[in-house]
Amino acid sequence: MKTLKKLFLLLIVVGLVAAGIFYFRDTEAPQLTLTPESGSISHNTKTVLNINDSGMGIKNAEVVVIQGSNRIPLLKRDFPLQTDTTTLDLDLVGLKLQQGILQIEVTTTDQSIYHLGKGNTSQQIFTLTYDSRPPIISVLSKAHNLTKGGSGLVVFNVNEDVDKAGIQFGDYFFPAYQQESGEYNCLFAYPYNVKEKDFIPRIVARDLAGNERPTGIYYRAKNKKFRHRKINVSDGFLTMKAPELESQVPNPGTPLEIFLYVNQTIRQENRDKIAELGQKTAETLLWDGAFLRQPKAATQAVFADYRTYYYKGKEVDRQVHLGHDLASVAQDELVAGNSGEVVWAEYMGIYGFCVVIDHGLGLQSLYAHMSQLDVQKGDMVTRGQVLGNSGTTGLAGGDHLHLGVFVSGVPVQPIEWWDSHWLQDNITSKLQ
Ligand SMILES: [Zn+2]
Repeated sequence: MKTLKKLFLLLIVVGLVAAGIFYFRDTEAPQLTLTPESGSISHNTKTVLNINDSGMGIKNAEVVVIQGSNRIPLLKRDFPLQTDTTTLDLDLVGLKLQQGILQIEVTTTDQSIYHLGKGNTSQQIFTLTYDSRPPIISVLSKAHNLTKGGSGLVVFNVNEDVDKAGIQFGDYFFPAYQQESGEYNCLFAYPYNVKEKDFIPRIVARDLAGNERPTGIYYRAKNKKFRHRKINVSDGFLTMKAPELESQVPNPGTPLEIFLYVNQTIRQENRDKIAELGQKTAETLLWDGAFLRQPKAATQAVFADYRTYYYKGKEVDRQVHLGHDLASVAQDELVAGNSGEVVWAEYMGIYGFCVVIDHGLGLQSLYAHMSQLDVQKGDMVTRGQVLGNSGTTGLAGGDHLHLGVFVSGVPVQPIEWWDSHWLQDNITSKLQ
């Protein structure tokens, strides 16, 4: 009898200890984070609530939106056992909200039996600003006359802070850069391969709450026909180029196959690289005055020549020539078209050894097929400064300079930038 009583007491003690351990097992409230946790939001903002409970798991959560004395229940959720973590999208669409201060109150409890079975509760209030008004854009520049393949500039103001502003049409986006005066300068292009009906440039600006507004601009688009040229790919050219190009081709076959791989695949890779360089640009113009055309050099090919390549009389490829070719003497000293920062000075596929200068606002110039480079990445160069010597590296038959000009990575007509009248009318006059 005595033994039974002892055993019974022992069981009670063990039970109490176990209950105690269980009771105190989870005394930590769930952790919560809200993204964004401050700043401006609108119904466009992706607002995400994250709850974590490393103990017994999350039991429930409640979200209330508060504006002044107005409390709007937004969400109430119970969770199954062992929910350690959850991500909830908070949708403000349909709520009657006022512009201004908005608070999001989140209350969440875990499955713990602590606090006499009520569990651990955490409550947090996030204070944000509700803003559903899109930014207002005022266009300051007047005439925007663009020729197909050419460039243009638009200057505008936005009435609030934005995280994105620029010219947009189709899949194209040309970023605008805010100047010290507060105005935005945006260089953009009428790409050589965009149809007139698809070239409808609009300014878009998106504020910090995600409100976006497109605004039309007055513009005139002038069409331009480009030339068609036949290029004969000779065995002499292929034999001469094969050793240089071979190393860039994964499975080199015949000299013609090597050439075609470089002319197609490597050409595209190089265009992607140029597009990437175009996004890393100075936010102000690093130059003034017309671009310098390589002195005493004769034009060999022009921008946007549509080239059809023939081998032994048979068509083997088609590409568009996106630069201006100039030639004078072999290993001519090549000069910078204008001031800027060297952002590339090494070998790049079809361009061989080449230099890319960033002139700011997304404007960049490329000097290709060089035999020697006298500048390095990071160098600041001035208009007319020698960059190195011309040559035949990359896809070049004879010694020449291939000059490319790009606006935010999109190839444009170089001749406009050499023309001081065009420059004054379309760029410089708008910057004053
Ligand atoms: Zn060229």
